[in-house]
Amino acid sequence: MKYIMALDQGTTSSRCILFNKKGEIKSVSQREFPQIYPKPGWVEHDPMEIWSTQASVAIEAMAKIGAKAENIAGIGITNQRETTVVWNKKTGEPVYNAIVWQCRRTAPIIDAIPADMQKKIRQRTGLIPDAYFSASKIQWILDNVKGARAAAEAGDLLFGTIDTWLMWKLSGGTIHATDYTNASRTMLFDIRKLRWDKEILEYFRIPESMLPEVHPSGYLFGYADPFIVNGEIPIAGVAGDQQSSLFGLCGFHKGDVKNTYGTGCFLLMNTGEKAIRSKNGLLTTIAAGRSEKVDYVLEGSIFIGGAVIQWLRDEMEVVRKASASEKSAEAVADTLGAYFVPAFTGLGAPYWDQDARGTLVGITRGFNKNNLSRACLESIAYQTHDVIRAMEADAGCPLNSLKVDGGASHNNLLMQFQSDIVDTVIERPKMVETTALGAAYLAGLTTGYWKNEEELINNQKTDRIFKPVMEKKEREERIKGWNRAVKTAEFWAKNKE
Ligand code: ADP
Repeated sequence: MKYIMALDQGTTSSRCILFNKKGEIKSVSQREFPQIYPKPGWVEHDPMEIWSTQASVAIEAMAKIGAKAENIAGIGITNQRETTVVWNKKTGEPVYNAIVWQCRRTAPIIDAIPADMQKKIRQRTGLIPDAYFSASKIQWILDNVKGARAAAEAGDLLFGTIDTWLMWKLSGGTIHATDYTNASRTMLFDIRKLRWDKEILEYFRIPESMLPEVHPSGYLFGYADPFIVNGEIPIAGVAGDQQSSLFGLCGFHKGDVKNTYGTGCFLLMNTGEKAIRSKNGLLTTIAAGRSEKVDYVLEGSIFIGGAVIQWLRDEMEVVRKASASEKSAEAVADTLGAYFVPAFTGLGAPYWDQDARGTLVGITRGFNKNNLSRACLESIAYQTHDVIRAMEADAGCPLNSLKVDGGASHNNLLMQFQSDIVDTVIERPKMVETTALGAAYLAGLTTGYWKNEEELINNQKTDRIFKPVMEKKEREERIKGWNRAVKTAEFWAKNKE
């Protein structure tokens, strides 16, 4: 029996899943690790803890089914993106904790970027300058850790996102590499020329010698050290979590869109060979693939997705469990014309309004808690609709299909309403571990475990398909109402008089 091993290194836990040829899960092991909050707004992880939890779940997942190294056809890695590690290449010791994507400590570095440099960063990296990405985090480490800059300039320090750090450890310090998807989230990588951008590196004062080699996501990066896994296993797939999920959902074609309905929502649209510059504040980044000729994606996120259902549960106490929101909403036919805009922390794409606030409009005397559940679920679908329409406008092409995953994608009422509002078919797969599956697919295709993408598409098992049934007129009226509701939510925190 042969399996593909997916290492799924997330923000709160490290997991390992072994998949078989049918793409089924044969073994899982998972371990949480501590979050470190040294100051308000700062978030760190201990890189050694990331490595040790990841290595131990890998060994555990194998042991659970008695798999040996010779039973593992390849390893694929998927990871929390942007999180930054800098280590000494001689000792293998990190010089500082990993600075996590959520960490805001480098916001002042970003605020100080002059307009012309901001423009260059946007054009070349496809990103909107932000503390979120790796660039300013590396600069912070070099500027604040004693001796780090001198060591970096002497060529002794290496930088990596989590995939790079894991490969380095897994290969016993012989591989220093990353893939296009992870490189495209550093804010240092020219996504069209597919190389590190010297001018941006200079601006952030980062020596190029620290940076990993960059390869396609499906690529033979090297081999795991037999000392660790008791045999030579090829490391043959690497992708950042969101791109991996798009790949795991078989979003291989131009126009394919995936939405992950988690706490927030992450939407990615495959735009084919063209790196599109968004006019709607979406990010342009590289899709996971197997060739030097990459595909691009537009990415948009929604801050409050499934989190609106947590609010309904914890603050409003309308439901006891998130899943009960479906039953509650089903108890009523509609929202009685009301809309809820969950702009608790402002609005992201395509509005980008940090002063927007949560707003409930249009309620009448009969509005009850079930109408509220419905309005909350509908708000997730309307926000998704807005991002998809922005993506289509930027890409100049309609979406092909909407593929879904994440906790709230199990809500049938939400999925049906989503299909109605976007007027598209939704495919919900049986396999919900799409992020890990994407990394497994990349490694399996590279090592010949799977023949080609066609085979994966044929392997896919659909849980349920949702087809739009809403009349055009009704859809348009509802969207009009939603747009009016958004207008009332916008700029709320600014108009204080
Ligand atoms: P994350 O990876 O961001 O923690 P998950 O994919 O586990 O998120 O999804 C959890 C989110 O989805 C929570 O915000 C929860 O409120 C919401 N959620 C989970 N199940 C349902 C459901 N059946 N209906 C609506 N929302 C749900």
